[in-house]
Amino acid sequence: MAIKSATATIDLSALVYNFNAIKQMAPKSKILAVLKANAYGHGLERIAKALPQADAFGVARIDEALALRAGGVVKPLVLLEGFFTGDDLAVLAVNNLQTIVHNEQQLQAIEKAKLDRPLKVWLKIDTGMHRLGIYPEQFNAFYQRLKQCPNVQNDIVIMSHLGCADDRTSATTEQQLAVFEALSSTLAEEKSMANSAGILAWPNSHYHWIRPGLMLYGISPLLPNDASVSPVKPVMTLQASLIAIKAIRANETVGYGGNWQSTSDTTLGIIAIGYGDGYPRHAPNGTPVLLNGRRVPLVGRVSMDMITVDLGPAPKDQVGDVATLWGKELTVAEIATYATTIPYELLCNISRRVQTQYA
Ligand code: PLP
Repeated sequence: MAIKSATATIDLSALVYNFNAIKQMAPKSKILAVLKANAYGHGLERIAKALPQADAFGVARIDEALALRAGGVVKPLVLLEGFFTGDDLAVLAVNNLQTIVHNEQQLQAIEKAKLDRPLKVWLKIDTGMHRLGIYPEQFNAFYQRLKQCPNVQNDIVIMSHLGCADDRTSATTEQQLAVFEALSSTLAEEKSMANSAGILAWPNSHYHWIRPGLMLYGISPLLPNDASVSPVKPVMTLQASLIAIKAIRANETVGYGGNWQSTSDTTLGIIAIGYGDGYPRHAPNGTPVLLNGRRVPLVGRVSMDMITVDLGPAPKDQVGDVATLWGKELTVAEIATYATTIPYELLCNISRRVQTQYA
């Protein structure tokens, strides 16, 4: 198919491959596949439906969970960030949505609510990341209140989130795991700790439920300088067509602000993708773009709808050729490093005007 405007092609077989690879890394754990933020830009419902072996799905917001239910997804759904107030509890109960509980206000709202059926909750402990979660010293009393609350199902999952698991040498992760273990080891409840980096680098974080996000989509969750070979395959390929080719002389500037200048006569290629599609505005000169089997450098600022690349003095490329911004041979992690961000942000920023196709 000829690609004109920006297109994200989602390789569902790579997604399933990654799921199976993750399963092999933690064979005894159940898998909660994380589908927050439109499944990290890959399409919420399509990704859910392509993962029938997942034991549950995790989302951030109630409307994401309701969209999955409306699309016919009947698996357990967990509100991973616990963004709910007392007013939302009836919606959670009616739609059979599970949620994490991470503060006193939420607990009080659950205790006061009048619900037709009890909620399944995941109790989140702040073991050291200092984002969401109750403090370790609150744990016993909090846990007992949940156990005694008629609005809460008896099988609570005890969970926490790792802040530094992408660093294999992290002392913070060791401490988080020790705090979690000390609080929960004597309890018969199911437990959950590991995100992608935990799954890959910290086997003692696996427990009963693992919660992979990034790795499902084929990106290594470890720090960019980690030399280990990624066990997963990129799922998204982002492409757009070359819409113009033009020669310029030496010492000409290119684009807004003229922040790149040619040093010799060369040829520019204009590609139909820009920050309006989610290509990072901060990608600097030299960021690679794949075109006809080679890497060509981005030159000049990224515009809303276009980028410019340097094709060299006598290119064979033609208008209509398809360029790859990221995918299997040029990873989104590599582009994220150029743009001084993380692959999560680039994937989530894919905008609505990008056409998504599933292969
Ligand atoms: N668990 C929780 C609570 C999260 O918030 C996230 C994502 O931010 C994940 C798991 C998945 O993390 P990752 O994409 O690094 O695997």
